Amino acid sequence: MRTVITGGAGFIGSHLCDYLIEKGHQVICIDSLLTGKVENIVHLMGNSQFRFIKHNVSDYIYVDGQVDNVLHFASPASPFDYLEFPIQTLKVGSLGTLNSLGLAKTKKAKFLLASTSEVYGDPQIHPQREDYWGHVNPVGPRGVYDEAKRFAEAMTMAYHRYHHMDTRIVRIFNTYGPRMRVKDGRALPNFICQALRGEDITVFGNGLQTRSFCYVSDLVEGIYRLLLSNEYDPVNIGNPEEITIHQLAKEILALTGSKSRIIFKTLPVDDPKIRQPDISRAKKVLGWEPKIVREEGLRKTLRYFKDTLSSFEKNR
Ligand code: NAD
Ligand code: UDP
Repeated sequence: MRTVITGGAGFIGSHLCDYLIEKGHQVICIDSLLTGKVENIVHLMGNSQFRFIKHNVSDYIYVDGQVDNVLHFASPASPFDYLEFPIQTLKVGSLGTLNSLGLAKTKKAKFLLASTSEVYGDPQIHPQREDYWGHVNPVGPRGVYDEAKRFAEAMTMAYHRYHHMDTRIVRIFNTYGPRMRVKDGRALPNFICQALRGEDITVFGNGLQTRSFCYVSDLVEGIYRLLLSNEYDPVNIGNPEEITIHQLAKEILALTGSKSRIIFKTLPVDDPKIRQPDISRAKKVLGWEPKIVREEGLRKTLRYFKDTLSSFEKNR
C-alpha cells in the first residue's frame, strides 16, 4: 500500500503516519507546515517507508508512481488557527480537497476526507447523528472552517457519485493527545499548559458548554477501520463521554496538582453550547468504539506537555 497523507505533519496526521507505517504502508506526507511541525515527523525521516514533501495542497499536487490511498487531513483545525488563517482554511477545504480528490482519481486510489463535528454547527439535536444536517452560521467567524468542511463533504460525495470513486468521510469530534501544539489555543492543551505554568485557567463563558473528548489512538484506529470498510456515508468518530468545559478545567487542576485559579472570559462568537457524538453507525459498520477513558488519556497527554514545556522553557 502506498498512502498519501495531506496534513501529515500535524497532530492527527503524524499519528496516522506512524500507525500506517506500522501496518506496512509506504507513507507520503504532504504538508505546508502552516500549523504543523517537523518535530512531529522527525523520527520518521530516514525511514525508507516514509517520504515528506513540503507543499501547499491548495496548489496542484504532483506525486509520482502508484498511490493506493489519499487521506486528506490538511487544514487549520483549532478555532484559534482558523481565525488567524481564514482564507487559507477556505482554500484548503475547497481547492485542497479538489486537488486531493483529483490526485486520487488520477491514481485510481481510495480517498478519505477528514471532516468534523463542526459541520453540525451549534447543534439543536443532541447527541449528533450523521443524518442531522446541522445549524451553521455561514457568515460568522467560524463559517470559514464549517462551510469549507461542508463544501469538502459535498465535493467528496460528488466525486463518489459522478466519478464512481471509492470515498470515505470521517466526522471527527474533539480529539486530544501528544503532539497538540502548546499554543494551539484549544481548551485542553491550553488548560494543561496554564496549569503546568501556574497561570490562570481561562474558561470561556460560564463554562457550562459541553464537549466530548476522544484520545488520539482511538481516533486513528477508527479511521483505519473506516478506510478498510465499504462505508461511503459520513461516520462520526469520537468519544461520547460528555463533560462541561468547567469540569474539564477542574479535572486538569486535580491531575496536575496545580495552584492555578480558574477565571472566566468572554465566550467566542457562535461557540457551540453542546457537543456529543452518536457513534451507533461506527459501532455497527466498523465494530469500533473508544477504549481510552479520559483520566488515562489526560495522564498520557500531561506527560507529553511536561516534556515539551521543559525543553521549550530551556531553549527559550
Ligand atoms: P493540525 O493543525 O495539527 O494539522 C493540520 C495540518 O495540515 C498541519 O500540519 C498543517 O501544516 C497542514 N496544512 C494546513 N493547510 C495546509 C495546506 N494548504 N497544504 C498542506 N498542508 C496544510 O490539526 P489536527 O488537529 O491534526 O487536524 C487534522 C485534520 O483533522 C484537519 O482536517 C481537521 O479539520 C480535522 N479535525 C480535527 C479535530 C481535532 O479535534 N483535532 C476535530 C475535527 C476535525
Ligand atoms: N475554551 C475555553 N478556554 C480556552 C479555550 C477554549 O473555555 O482557553 C472553550 C471554547 O470556548 C469551547 C471549548 O472550550 O467552548 C472547546 O474549545 P476548543 O477550542 O478546544 O474546540 P472547539 O470544540 O470549540 O472547536
